[in-house]
Amino acid sequence: MSEEFKNTPRKDATLLPVPEGLSRCPICNEYRGVMALRDLPNFSSSIYRYEEPSTPLRVQCICDGILCRTCNKNRIHRPISNRWDERGGFGHMPYFTAMIPCKDCRAKKNAEEDEERQARKTQPAKAK
Ligand SMILES: [Zn+2]
Ligand SMILES: [Zn+2]
Repeated sequence: MSEEFKNTPRKDATLLPVPEGLSRCPICNEYRGVMALRDLPNFSSSIYRYEEPSTPLRVQCICDGILCRTCNKNRIHRPISNRWDERGGFGHMPYFTAMIPCKDCRAKKNAEEDEERQARKTQPAKAK
């Protein structure tokens, strides 16, 4: 039996049971609250497996997040925080996620880069 934990489950994956203590945020629809370590779907193979199983684990929704550094308007998940969803299970946001722009900004940046690429194609390449 494999203990491998899939971070990107299929769309039709069975939904995980919601750990006690978590509830859906009425604003962003993500889960928030405090759950116990033992309720992690992959507790026995997680980095927390040597910890006390009853240790409370705080889960935050994006409302508790920080403002995107690019647009200062949208929120991104707070770095060094935990999130939970019924498809992907538990997720930890490492400190460097503070540098990642929000979804909108990433989409915008991708579009700009596409435009630049298109523009470069029509201009003669500069000598290096
Ligand atoms: Zn929320
Ligand atoms: Zn942004």
